[in-house]
Amino acid sequence: MPPSPSQLALIPFVSVANMMRLVHHVGLETMLCELTDAVEADYRRWPLFEKTARLASHSQEGVIELMPTSDGESFAFKYVNGHPANIASGFQTVAAFGLLARVDTGYPLMLTEMTLLTALRTAATSAMAARRLAPEGARVMAMIGNGAQAEFQALAMKAVVGIEEIRLYDIDANATAKAARNLAGRGLRLIRCATPEDAVLGAEIITTCTADKAYATILTDNMVGAGVHINAIGGDCPGKTELHKDILQRAQTFVEFEPQTRIEGEIQQMDAAYPVTEFWRVVSGEAEGRSDAAQITLFDSVGFAIEDFSALKYIHSRIEATDFFQQIDILADPDDPRDLFGMLQRAAA
Ligand code: NAD
Repeated sequence: MPPSPSQLALIPFVSVANMMRLVHHVGLETMLCELTDAVEADYRRWPLFEKTARLASHSQEGVIELMPTSDGESFAFKYVNGHPANIASGFQTVAAFGLLARVDTGYPLMLTEMTLLTALRTAATSAMAARRLAPEGARVMAMIGNGAQAEFQALAMKAVVGIEEIRLYDIDANATAKAARNLAGRGLRLIRCATPEDAVLGAEIITTCTADKAYATILTDNMVGAGVHINAIGGDCPGKTELHKDILQRAQTFVEFEPQTRIEGEIQQMDAAYPVTEFWRVVSGEAEGRSDAAQITLFDSVGFAIEDFSALKYIHSRIEATDFFQQIDILADPDDPRDLFGMLQRAAA
């Protein structure tokens, strides 16, 4: 029997506290593996989705974005900011919440925090790309930028790709100390590095995850040897990049949704003819991933709505038969759907 309107008017809300309970209940690394598979499954269905470059409201301090998509059955959007200077005053660089809805009635299905979920889905997406693009048997990753995303990235690469050593570097030694402390005892060899050059030594994967609203040069061409896979996450906004242009000249570059990455990714530094491959084509077998051991591969990640859609669907299925949510009456539910005014009047009585 289809759900009644009043059943649909009450929806689950997953707070930060409940998201943390859920992650511990499932197990962090298990969840990262399951999310990687969930995102990859939706990448296989890529042509089915409605796709649009996200709506971005830019200011001097950062950006506020809305990221919508639909597969025709479900609709999802995320609200997310990106404010690199926030950290200095005790706010997070990236904070988010999101909503999953039914397409048939347009009614919401679930509202949830997405600050933690963004860190999880971004790590899962990085791991999804690395398991197809990183060199065979990769065991060492450089992690440049040791902020809020860093530990999630490290653990996803361990759980999904088999990374054993993380070489940590951040311009702020306190951030590196925090990441090393958080990752201790999790089966990774942790090397704290004093320079980015030291961090990339022997690394088969280099993840750049810094936050600066600038054309930064976190990696220069001479730091990237043959065969390395670069997972570039922090350049995700117009005027915000991490890699020297010369690296892009040598790399084979994979992107999420090309029209969005042309505006926001590392490739904003290149002209429109610069060749890229949308990663869903690799997942679906239409395009080649890494073609030889010496190739430099670059996953120019900016974050795309389909990854949030996958994460929202995953959480929605995972909270079923648990108490890791509260019911909220986010929608008005008059007895007679045309009598919205009457419902308001009766509440005054
Ligand atoms: P954060 O502010 O918590 O951490 C950023 C870290 O980068 C800080 O510790 C800072 O000291 C360090 N840093 C800044 N400049 C550096 C440099 N030149 N060298 C080394 N370290 C440097 O931010 P976060 O939440 O970890 O996010 C990191 C970046 O990832 C942000 O730019 C964010 O917008 C981006 N991001 C991308 C995606 C995606 O899907 N691609 C998702 C989430 C976040």
